[in-house]
Amino acid sequence: MNTEVSKRIDELSSELWNLALRIHAHPELGFEEHQAAAWLAEALEKGGFRVERGAGGVPTAFRAIHPNVKPGPRIALLAEYDALPELGHACGHNLIAAIAVGAALGLASCKGDHPGTLLVLGTPAEEGGGGKLKLIEAGLFRDVDVAMMVHPADQTLVDRGSLAITEVEIGFHGVSAHASSEPDKGVNALDAVIQTFIGLNALRQHIRDGARVHGIITHGGLKPNIVPEYAAARFYVRAADNEYRDELVDKLRRCAEGAALATGAKLDFRLVGHAYKAIRPSKALGGRFAHHIEALGYPVEEPQGGLGSTDMGDVSWEVPAIHPYIRIAEGTVPGHSRAFGEAARAEPARLAMLASAKALAAVCLDLWTDSSLFDRVREEFAGLSRR
Ligand SMILES: [Zn+2]
Repeated sequence: MNTEVSKRIDELSSELWNLALRIHAHPELGFEEHQAAAWLAEALEKGGFRVERGAGGVPTAFRAIHPNVKPGPRIALLAEYDALPELGHACGHNLIAAIAVGAALGLASCKGDHPGTLLVLGTPAEEGGGGKLKLIEAGLFRDVDVAMMVHPADQTLVDRGSLAITEVEIGFHGVSAHASSEPDKGVNALDAVIQTFIGLNALRQHIRDGARVHGIITHGGLKPNIVPEYAAARFYVRAADNEYRDELVDKLRRCAEGAALATGAKLDFRLVGHAYKAIRPSKALGGRFAHHIEALGYPVEEPQGGLGSTDMGDVSWEVPAIHPYIRIAEGTVPGHSRAFGEAARAEPARLAMLASAKALAAVCLDLWTDSSLFDRVREEFAGLSRR
């Protein structure tokens, strides 16, 4: 661990914590994070970075580059800063942003002594909007060799996977009729939705461990005395790999087709939103992060519980990437809960933010000072399957 960089991050601690708290106090949904993006861009500019706002044509994205650019590993630190509806920063993305900025500003003072490029990418709308997918499409990862970020959690985990996910909307079109006097003239779209859930529930026994299909009914009719002419549901289909995820989408489609056949309603089956790929964390980089975070008093734990999904998954198919988790609270505090939102602005989160920024900066220095690490990272990536 480089003491100069760690000292610099400690000097910045109140600035970083203010940033994290300000974002927490002004939660903004995906693609609406104008304030958070502006605050982060300002902090980086003040620290000597050149900032392009609206990077990749996404208004709340940004790309900050340290002006000292040399040949060598081009590292992107990723900042997320979107919040959840109703729950605010119950995923702690305010901390992800402060960690990325903290590591970048910590490294800024000594970047001149090192090769390579240091970037911070502001990546909006992780919670379903797929901000990183837009930045990939816009080519922002073409001049990047390695992408890294740290996510808060109630465990410290490195190399944890994520599930591939696809969002599906299933609409059924039936025929309305009086539900009591002339039900025989109606085609009940809600029944088709219910039959889809029943078919899916029967399927569940036969899907692989760890795969998830979960949904809600978004339209269920208008009044009990009208046979519902339109009903709809939304599902998230998740699996450990992209191929099995696609297979499950097909199985769900067949459940819906069966329901359409049984009820006579017309099916409209659509993939909506963004599909995220399963993450492939770089073990070579993860090993270095684990080493540094443990030295700072955060032992890497045995993973408990299931997996979520993230658009960092897609980034990990473009470049070697890590998405470790840092413990910000004692005991168990589930993500996307109000309790986690509270934890994301409490003292242990401040300490975790500083430790994560230091560990992330230390991995950057490892990459810039030990060319054999960069070789291992690239070899590992080249050996991964392309499917
Ligand atoms: Zn999150």
